Amino acid sequence: MSISLQGIDKSFGRFKALDDIRLEIADGQLTGLLGPSGSGKTTLLRIIAGLETADKGRILFHGEDVSKLHVRERRVGFVFQHYALFRHMTVADNVAFGLDVLPRKQRPPRADIKRRVADLLEMVQLDHLAKRYPAQLSGGQKQRIALARAMATQPQILLLDEPFGALDAKVRKELRRWLRSLHDELHFTSVFVTHDQEEALELSDQVVVMSAGQIEQVDAPQALYAKPDSRFVFNFLGQVN
Ligand code: ADP
Repeated sequence: MSISLQGIDKSFGRFKALDDIRLEIADGQLTGLLGPSGSGKTTLLRIIAGLETADKGRILFHGEDVSKLHVRERRVGFVFQHYALFRHMTVADNVAFGLDVLPRKQRPPRADIKRRVADLLEMVQLDHLAKRYPAQLSGGQKQRIALARAMATQPQILLLDEPFGALDAKVRKELRRWLRSLHDELHFTSVFVTHDQEEALELSDQVVVMSAGQIEQVDAPQALYAKPDSRFVFNFLGQVN
């Protein structure tokens, strides 16, 4: 499902967090939002999800204007940095939660929920942990459960806010590879936020470089270095030259 952002503005009080954001994301693409802290990445992701409303501009999913739709009606999956799992619920119940909160008409029958949860846990290769509680899992496992929950409603768009930020370097690398192959297999459209340039370059089909509420550059990872006036080089690799 393609995403089109057309002139998005967002202010918090007098502070302009996003300034005329225009961006096209093709169906099936994995897009990385890269930029320093405070550049507006999370705000943009939350606006795409419908967790925050833009002051101006339009958001289209597959050509349809979703700007006025509630977060639930947008049917996107969301993964946060700190997992946001419920401690008092088992792994299976955490994943089922994504389905339990659906409006009654869209909610599958109980038996189907059970089967769907089993399939999702198998997809993230953690079916053996269904009865455990989050406190018994490693960080990497928790994030895979969070991903399974985000995908419970079979969203076509997956949004991830610093999904690997809380994990150590080795697990980050593993999960990156794993997310990339899952993404390619299931063919959804994903946008993830990161301030880690290595992560953005390794994982993305296109990298969006943000700075002070604006988009500085949009390119395939390998093209980011190629332009002599690249803001990416200036912002992130300046010290290398
Ligand atoms: P990033 O994800 O790139 O670190 P954010 O989108 O989180 O940046 O924030 C961009 C700017 O907007 C920051 O200066 C932040 O303090 C401000 N901001 C974000 N959310 C709010 C809010 N709910 N209220 C006030 N200011 C906010």
